[in-house]
Amino acid sequence: MTNIEQDRWSRVKGRLRSSVGEDVYSSWFARMDLESVQSESVHLSVPTRFLKSWIQTHYSDRVLSCWQAEMPQVHRVDLTVRTAMRCASPAKDAPVAAEPRRDDGRAAPELRATAIAPVSATHEALGGSPLDPRLTFGSFVIGRSNTLAHAAARQVAEGRRGDPVMFNPLYIHSGVGLGKTHLLQAVTWAGNSGTERKVLYLTAEKFMYGFVAALKSQTALAFKEALRGIDVLVIDDLQFLQGKTTQAEFCHTLNALIDAGRQVVIAADRPPSDLESLDERVRSRLAGGLVVEMASLGEDLRLGILKSRVTAARAHHASFDVPLPVLEYLARTITHNGRDLEGAINRLLAHSKLNAQPVTLEMAEREIRDLVRPQEPKRIKIEDIQRVVARQYNVSRSDLLSSRRTANVVRPRQVAMYLAKTLTLRSLPEIGRRFGGRDHTTVLHAVRKIEGLVAKDTALSDEVELLKRQLQE
Ligand code: ADP
Ligand code: MG
Repeated sequence: MTNIEQDRWSRVKGRLRSSVGEDVYSSWFARMDLESVQSESVHLSVPTRFLKSWIQTHYSDRVLSCWQAEMPQVHRVDLTVRTAMRCASPAKDAPVAAEPRRDDGRAAPELRATAIAPVSATHEALGGSPLDPRLTFGSFVIGRSNTLAHAAARQVAEGRRGDPVMFNPLYIHSGVGLGKTHLLQAVTWAGNSGTERKVLYLTAEKFMYGFVAALKSQTALAFKEALRGIDVLVIDDLQFLQGKTTQAEFCHTLNALIDAGRQVVIAADRPPSDLESLDERVRSRLAGGLVVEMASLGEDLRLGILKSRVTAARAHHASFDVPLPVLEYLARTITHNGRDLEGAINRLLAHSKLNAQPVTLEMAEREIRDLVRPQEPKRIKIEDIQRVVARQYNVSRSDLLSSRRTANVVRPRQVAMYLAKTLTLRSLPEIGRRFGGRDHTTVLHAVRKIEGLVAKDTALSDEVELLKRQLQE
């Protein structure tokens, strides 16, 4: 490929990145390569079928128009799957060819009621964390904020032993109560309801205690073997993984599973780069798969979740009914998270049972008063701060991270560190690390400096306010 083509390709990627945003770009386009350019068509490739079909259905126009901005004569973009793809290695005891195939072709997407008992029994025998039978794909409501995460989870759940692994690990992150556990357990139920694959769901705590207990009883080897004998490892709340030995073990397990083509699915309350206690290699391994964020639940989605909860409750309490205006009121007022939505329905149910009264708007208002919270503040990331500050002061993000000490980068850098300290929960050493590996005392100095200036310099204080507003909107 010529240099000109390479340059063009870089510019097209740049356009794509600014048009879809960093998160979407890194999830879907980071591994897209240019294969060739003809006069009117361009040939691109991605490593997986999933990426291909996702990009084709959602972004093909966007990709084409980014090319046309560089090369107006291009009329077609072909996207193919690169062949150098790692395939899942079939488990030793079950050669793929000899495996009984189910007649429906794909893995059954929905859990059948009869499958619940055996699934959870086998799952717990494997040492998995308990599963909640209500958390399935069937009860998961899809909305704008979770479409990507849901599609990816579904894809994982429907895979069969021996299928090529689409993306590994699948890493889902969001604030609390936005459906991570629901989605992970749905993957586990659906994956285990067939006979062919073993899906193990573990909370990070269970992973830790399982491992520590196994070490104590000298069966660590057996524990590792058991882990490695499964097809899909699902780990929830990874932010709780602590301790050097456990982390080292987690790292080994992760590498072993991924290298063997087994699927790993992870949820945490923050992106891999913010998992401060994990070591750099693990973080980058985690970031190397598909990282998807779930945003807060929109009002439509909240309404959908409430409806699905009522329907579920009615299975056991036929007389329970919540009029639509009440549901709409709840969806409008309880903005915080899915747990509070569930709590609200439970209260209405309890109240209407105990008092044998129908649910009314007045009753709902009374019952949920304490669930109404002020809007959850947006989670702000250090990258966003760096990006917004760099743009404001017309420097580049790498200037902020560099060791340059000229006035035009020192002040923006200090402002950015100050914002990182005041708008995120990150510690000083972590902030230092994210600003080009600076010492925590440097960060502290910057924070104090800006604090002092903001108190007396109104121009700077306005500037900082403006930046905060941009970040919080
Ligand atoms: P997280 O693990 O992200 O903290 P959970 O998965 O525990 O959140 O979700 C909290 C509650 O909200 C659960 O009752 C869950 O079923 C419900 N919930 C969240 N998102 C959805 C969704 N998209 N569809 C249905 N229920 C949801
Ligand atoms: Mg959870």
